[in-house]
Amino acid sequence: MRSTTAELQALDQAHLWHPFTPMAEWCAPGHAPLVLESGEGVWLHDTEGRRYFDGNSSIWTNLHGHRHPALTGAIRRQLDRVAHVSFLGATHEPAVRLAAELAGLFPPGTLNRVFFSDDGSTAVECALRQAWQYWEWEGKPQRRVVASFARAYHGDTLGAASLGGIPIFAGTATRLGLPVLNLRDVDQLEALNSSERESLAAVIVEPLIQGAAGLRLWPPGMLRALRHWCDRHGVLLIFDEVMTGFGRTGKMFAGEHEAVTPDFLCLAKGLSGGYSPLAATLTTDRVFQAFLGPVDERRTFFYGHSYSGHALGCAAALASLQIFRDEAVLERLAPTMEHLTRALESLRRRHPERVREVRQCGFVAGVELIPAGHPAQDRAPRWGPAVCQAARSFGLLTRPIGDTIVLLPPLCTTPAELDFALTALEAAMDTVFDRA
Ligand code: PLP
Repeated sequence: MRSTTAELQALDQAHLWHPFTPMAEWCAPGHAPLVLESGEGVWLHDTEGRRYFDGNSSIWTNLHGHRHPALTGAIRRQLDRVAHVSFLGATHEPAVRLAAELAGLFPPGTLNRVFFSDDGSTAVECALRQAWQYWEWEGKPQRRVVASFARAYHGDTLGAASLGGIPIFAGTATRLGLPVLNLRDVDQLEALNSSERESLAAVIVEPLIQGAAGLRLWPPGMLRALRHWCDRHGVLLIFDEVMTGFGRTGKMFAGEHEAVTPDFLCLAKGLSGGYSPLAATLTTDRVFQAFLGPVDERRTFFYGHSYSGHALGCAAALASLQIFRDEAVLERLAPTMEHLTRALESLRRRHPERVREVRQCGFVAGVELIPAGHPAQDRAPRWGPAVCQAARSFGLLTRPIGDTIVLLPPLCTTPAELDFALTALEAAMDTVFDRA
């Protein structure tokens, strides 16, 4: 017998602890958690039969829509063989083929080695550990510091969180003493003295656009400048493309916009099309070579997770890459991105008193509410959550970052579906601002 919505809500409130969620509000008697039960394309359905446009691609993961037959079919076929086997001491076809396909997406002689893990945080964690160990094997253990940027977000495990430049997310991790140098921008990197430079193991960046910072774009040329600086000073460059990877910015990877290839690339979220937790850290043969040697030298990379190289995730990722080719995803995305630009600009022009700024990078956008100096600025400073909550009743599901509404739809969204989402957002803004 199936549970009713009310039963599920009550059990959830009695037992669950949700990520990034103020649980006192969530568990308050007046709150009825949204219970989702199915999806189709860009739509999600709740247990009461309502449907919602998936405006943040299920936390930035979904690329080709829900229940895409090629993705579900690939997972089912793999399930009929085996769901998961140890990746320690054995290998399997989906992982082998996926690694070769991923390496093939980059210029020959660059990102040729693939290490699988589970999510964005572990992809970053793995890059950090490889970078640190690389310098030990190279006889330069003093290279221990990792430079990251203000307002950066690289995940929630301790190493990844230590890099973070957003205090509320980084939490206590930054106080635990991992050697991290948090910089404002490339100019500050340029200004480091030689002993600071020589202590650096790596620089990590979210290329083109910082996600959790509220969708903030870097100035053009930043990636080239970073690559140039790292090459001049022998520092490894890590791109965290957990959010930007797989078409989000209009190209397969954000680094392509400036023809820059890093020494490490962290991928997750869209890697499996958003169907299964799977992550990959790619690196060069130069880094890999440093880990080779007789067993008793202990150069082995002593790192891994139970689900490394998960077969269902790898099968989904192969299917997702096939969809990019079969459905010409990037070619079809280009006009839809332009449609999004026009729609956002029109929203901003029609509501100068409500919209401070719209920011867009490919198929990632943020609508920041409340212009500076607005009389309501200091009152009830939760415009973002209020608008997102109201948007649900107009059929749009997304989450805010502070007062910035995130629009990060699945890549398969049509212009008509985008119009639906923006109309719902505007109706939600009307509801919240007219009430205030
Ligand atoms: N890196 C970036 C740029 C991200 O945006 C995120 C998540 O939003 C992460 C890392 C962490 O990924 P995960 O939540 O899968 O651990």
